[in-house]
Amino acid sequence: SVEMQVADLDASKLRINLSQTLKDIPAKETLSFGQTMTDHMLMMTFDPVYGWSSPEIKPYGPISVDPAGSCFQYSTNVFEGMKAYVGPDGKPRLFRPKMNMERLARSASRVALPPFSTDELLKLVKKLVSVESRWIPVAKGYSLYVRPTIIGTKPALAVGPSDHAILYVICSPTGPWVRSGQKAISLYAVDEHVRSWPGGTGGFKLALNYAPTLMPQAVAQKLGYDQCLWLLGEDKKVTEVGAMNFFVVVQREDGGWDVITPPLDGTILPGVTRDSTLKLLAAHPSKSVLPGLSDSDKLHPQELQMTMADLRKLAEEGRLLEAFGVGTAAIVTAVARIGFEGKDINLPTHESGMGPVAQALYDRIIDIQMGRFEWEGWSV
Ligand code: PMP
Repeated sequence: SVEMQVADLDASKLRINLSQTLKDIPAKETLSFGQTMTDHMLMMTFDPVYGWSSPEIKPYGPISVDPAGSCFQYSTNVFEGMKAYVGPDGKPRLFRPKMNMERLARSASRVALPPFSTDELLKLVKKLVSVESRWIPVAKGYSLYVRPTIIGTKPALAVGPSDHAILYVICSPTGPWVRSGQKAISLYAVDEHVRSWPGGTGGFKLALNYAPTLMPQAVAQKLGYDQCLWLLGEDKKVTEVGAMNFFVVVQREDGGWDVITPPLDGTILPGVTRDSTLKLLAAHPSKSVLPGLSDSDKLHPQELQMTMADLRKLAEEGRLLEAFGVGTAAIVTAVARIGFEGKDINLPTHESGMGPVAQALYDRIIDIQMGRFEWEGWSV
């Protein structure tokens, strides 16, 4: 519970000011990620005297912020990424949205932005999604991406907590991350630039974590790779890939498969998809939770640190069966090769682009998100 002397967020005070002119919705085949915004946005402001203002859903458009504002000067910006789908009942759905609200609150707290009630914000996000429901594309791999954002707006140059803020939520219809379907991607392992480090902020969704990744990402693309694999430390620990959590599938001596991702030690973003992946893997083979995998495929989900030396050795021994990234945007993306110190580690290729574990997770997570498979109340 949030302790505040001033007004907390209150969804019952929502005012709705609908746009007079609605946009044409582009054909879904032409959508590329995050380009098209919907008609409306949700917005509320915080000031130290009143607290949180009445929330408003209003026409999408520019917002005005003082040039001395804390967000421009000191990067007091945090955000979330979540998706809405239309279920078989025709109603909009969100996937585990409480986890996003709670992560947003932790991110805000990490940069001393004002606290807010996560339950009230979730009510407001649901309302926005239902106002914008005509924008949710109805096809496998398509959804409405929802981007809650908080920016510090204190109009003063002294370095200090921003006691003014704007919280807004915008929405963008989106298709499969890789247009050609589920093509496997290539990674460039980077150790000279570090995304996240012990005691740093990598475990939070702060805008300031992303800016320093843009130049190495551009370099990786120039070298012919799709995304960076972020390494950490002398021993070159594997952390995350692009803006996704990283998993590998390793052949065990007993015939089973270890499915390994780095532990949440503060350097890893606690992804909603990561958590869902670990839980689905742990549930296999009960209730046929992972389609396409047989009951005799023994999966052993593990949160373990791995180094590049480990990956290279496993690949040389022929035991590195799959590597993939997981996150809200792409859900599951298979990895075909990893460039490291001038050589590529190649992974086994599969006709569909994904190995069996990645494919099973991708199919099942989408089924759950779209409300076609009921699992643990994740789709709401
Ligand atoms: N790592 C980073 C750095 C990210 O930005 C994201 C996207 N939020 C993820 C992992 C995946 O998290 P989620 O599954 O919650 O989208």
